Amino acid sequence: MERVLIHIHGIVQGVGFRPFIHKQVRAYRLAGTIKNTSSGVELELEGEREELERFLADLPHKAPKLAVIEKIESEFFTELKHFTDFRILQSKTEDQRNTLISPDIGICDDCLRELLDPADRRYRYPFINCTNCGPRFTIIKDVPYDRAKTSMSEFPMCPDCDREYHDIENRRYHAQPDCCGDCGPHVFYLDAAGNPVAGDAIALARAALKAGKIVAVKGLGGIHLSCRCDDPEIARTLRRRKQRDEKPFAIMCRDVDCARKICEVSKAEEALLTSFRRPIVLLKKRARGTLAHLSENNDIGVMLPYTPLHVLLFGEDIDMLVMTSANLSDTPIVYRNDEAVEKLRGIADGFLLHNREIQTRCDDSLCSCLDGEAYFARRSRGYVPFPVSVHESVGMILACGAEQKASFCLSKGNYVFPSQHIGDLKNVETLENYEQQIRHFEKLFDIRPSAIACDLHPDYLSTAYAAARSEEEGIPLIPVQHHHAHMAACMADNALSGEVIGLVWDGTGYGTDGTTWGGECLVGGYDGFARVGSIRPIPLVGGDLVTKEPLRVAWALEHDAGEKIPEGENEAVWEKMLAGGLNCPPSSGMGRLFDGVSAMLGIKTRCSYEGQGAILLEAAAADDDGLYPIAWEEENGLLRFDWRESIRAIRAELARGTDRGVIAARFMNTLVETGVRQCVFARERSGLERVVLSGGSFQNRYMMHRLPAALEDKGFAVYHHRRVSTNDEGISLGQLMIAGAALERK
Ligand code: ZN
Ligand code: ZN
Ligand code: FE
Repeated sequence: MERVLIHIHGIVQGVGFRPFIHKQVRAYRLAGTIKNTSSGVELELEGEREELERFLADLPHKAPKLAVIEKIESEFFTELKHFTDFRILQSKTEDQRNTLISPDIGICDDCLRELLDPADRRYRYPFINCTNCGPRFTIIKDVPYDRAKTSMSEFPMCPDCDREYHDIENRRYHAQPDCCGDCGPHVFYLDAAGNPVAGDAIALARAALKAGKIVAVKGLGGIHLSCRCDDPEIARTLRRRKQRDEKPFAIMCRDVDCARKICEVSKAEEALLTSFRRPIVLLKKRARGTLAHLSENNDIGVMLPYTPLHVLLFGEDIDMLVMTSANLSDTPIVYRNDEAVEKLRGIADGFLLHNREIQTRCDDSLCSCLDGEAYFARRSRGYVPFPVSVHESVGMILACGAEQKASFCLSKGNYVFPSQHIGDLKNVETLENYEQQIRHFEKLFDIRPSAIACDLHPDYLSTAYAAARSEEEGIPLIPVQHHHAHMAACMADNALSGEVIGLVWDGTGYGTDGTTWGGECLVGGYDGFARVGSIRPIPLVGGDLVTKEPLRVAWALEHDAGEKIPEGENEAVWEKMLAGGLNCPPSSGMGRLFDGVSAMLGIKTRCSYEGQGAILLEAAAADDDGLYPIAWEEENGLLRFDWRESIRAIRAELARGTDRGVIAARFMNTLVETGVRQCVFARERSGLERVVLSGGSFQNRYMMHRLPAALEDKGFAVYHHRRVSTNDEGISLGQLMIAGAALERK
């Protein structure tokens, strides 16, 4: 017999870890104690040395799936304390509000089996769940997390469920949302006018979908609009009703094999699709024209059913359905039954709803697969509100994010809690939701910020919120330059300290000189930065209008490059505006360069959603290694990519009739080369070898398949985002780290 003291570091609280250990201790015939510590849990166990070692070896791969074990330390002793049983010790400092809250988890295999087993008491019950799956974050009103503080409070457990709940051997032990057909929520179906329809709700919804209707389906964090995938006419109807012109719709496939019928699915992509987090994964279509009415580019967003209700809706004969957030253009996702009927009137032909309330909106997560891992465009359902751990403790800070892809982060020690997808704050309802969610997170995790970080942009609504709160609460406000925040976000994402080179490419960010930046090469760390590379500013003829009308950018690029432009009425007006400096703010936005070239190639001359020009340019790219000539301007240590030479080359190729796909590829190859050259320039100045890549432009997969490799070829260590989004949704993490460093200095 021996005694062992074990420290488990990581995210092991609030994830069913203690019941798990309890079971393991029994299985290995051990005795001892467990208690929570500030960095994880501490175990003290006695038993046969061999059993103790097997127990330790099994821990990492048997642990609950939400647990993140960062390190296990163990020390053996020969003198015994003669434990006779297993006890959970309440540590004195243990604060209920230190407990983490689980994200919502997709249906597990055990529940799926029971759901489809006619002999099981939960056969075809659409709310089946267990300790390993089901709703969590989206049904919680307050902490501590127990049934009384969730949407399940109005459904008292029946004796059968109660027995399972209290049986430590049962897989529903302490599963707060546990329920069955006798005691839990139920589904119902409403017609277009919101009147109840008698009959089997799921059968009614299935029949409506098959008949080509648009049906609102209540999910975990909100309501989806669903319809058949195969009929362009239905998709057009949905677009018209939803006021969504061309933006791609995500689809839900019954299983991976159904997804494979239309998309290529790698092993890593399959693992992402089937993971308990069930994000929407961007997959490459097998044929470009497949489902073009749902997605106009080469990819389509695919997810698998993640609630038992979805499983029943698909049955055995529906392969795929459109599943898009139920909302009107840019408003937040509809999530309550009453507002569903009111707001979706005229959009949905029917409603498959239920009486378990959603407390908190949480949109589907969206990612692609990069190096075998999730690469986020949106980190939301299935991930939030789980923290990302950071390597330096930052205390309690609120970081308010950007504006169009709003998000916030709150920190507590080494944990940073990034918010779910919020949306564009310029929408009033979205702004309200943003403010509510900040308060909700502060309550859930008991965080009282001692400082507030925000973007440097004076007009962002997130900045206004931050300033108002800083004033009200008398706590410091720390404005952070946009691209510096991107760089710091990618550093924290990869647990980097010190100084790095940051290649930060996006559409728009407020610069320290008051102009719009966006294709930047920075050098620095959390403490500060210097701007060493950028691109030649592009005059945005008509200001913000250019994002919708990229033809204006194309014209400005060609005009500046000295090309003869065929004169039309518009051009004459633009010429005057430019000459008079009238509403032509300069921008070094990389996104604008993409838009402009996309419009020059005639790929997209009017955009109906953000980034559309760049996305379609990427989609059009052929397989080609060519490059265009690159020129540079250097002033005061700032190396600017002068794109005029490249624009002239593109113009000449267009005149020669070169394939547009080839031009698109050569243009992006040119950008990869400029990125490498800027990093080499930055390395010569600074001696730094680590490069972080951040910004919305790096959602471009063509670039992400070439730029890191090209940089590595030159001897750089390259880091991209792994845990938060590369677009503006991720910058709150960087703001937070920079604010943390600023407070530290004081
Ligand atoms: Zn389950
Ligand atoms: Zn029950
Ligand atoms: Fe940005």
